[in-house]
Amino acid sequence: MSEDQAHAVDDYLAEALGFSDPALEAALAANAEAGLPAIDVSPAQGKLLHLLARVAGARRILEIGTLGGYSTIWLARALPEGGRIVSLELEPEHAAVARENVARAGLSDRVEIRVGRALDSLAALEAEGAGPFDLVFVDADKPSNPDYLAAALRLSRPGTVLVFDNVVRRGRVVETDGADSSIVGSRAVLEALGREPRITATAIQTLGVKGWDGFALAIVGEG
Ligand code: SAM
Repeated sequence: MSEDQAHAVDDYLAEALGFSDPALEAALAANAEAGLPAIDVSPAQGKLLHLLARVAGARRILEIGTLGGYSTIWLARALPEGGRIVSLELEPEHAAVARENVARAGLSDRVEIRVGRALDSLAALEAEGAGPFDLVFVDADKPSNPDYLAAALRLSRPGTVLVFDNVVRRGRVVETDGADSSIVGSRAVLEALGREPRITATAIQTLGVKGWDGFALAIVGEG
């Protein structure tokens, strides 16, 4: 299948299954207007995150990598009354756009966006006794993924769902020369997920509007 065909299939699925609405479209338009890179999850992936959060009955969600809040909106919409999502973002400009997008979607009451290096924000969350989170979505700087896994485990409970995005990287995840730090980070987190006795994990390749990539999905068990 060509990438054009895959793109057309994603467009068809979006129409057939309803992957968009004015608030999501406005968020993507605001991101583009502000010059943010178009590296948000695809609409189909956003809906998958939403469904995973609902299947897990998530009340507390942690997101690492906010960008303009597109995935944040999908996840926040899955929360029940009183639920909360904390989303971590390095760039103040991204966080500012995300806060506006979240407000436009009517979700500010349940979304907290923290600005700074995610590793620092994660340490602060641990120090505050935040968590355990019910679902953790990791979608930031890929070289830090093994550290994000370690922090996510400290902020988890048995049953917590973990999702790591972009682990296939157009198939380049099989490269072993260590030349690309994002591939090194993706391989390291996949292998850590496989080794960690508390974790049951899979990874699924995806093809669609964002090209060829994939995500890892895991559940935390008893320690
Ligand atoms: N999850 C978003 C979505 O689907 O709408 C996309 C996130 S984008 C792929 C990655 C984001 O991670 C960028 O906004 C980037 O600024 C942020 N980021 C990169 N390094 C970071 C770090 N060390 N700490 C926190 N955020 C970081």
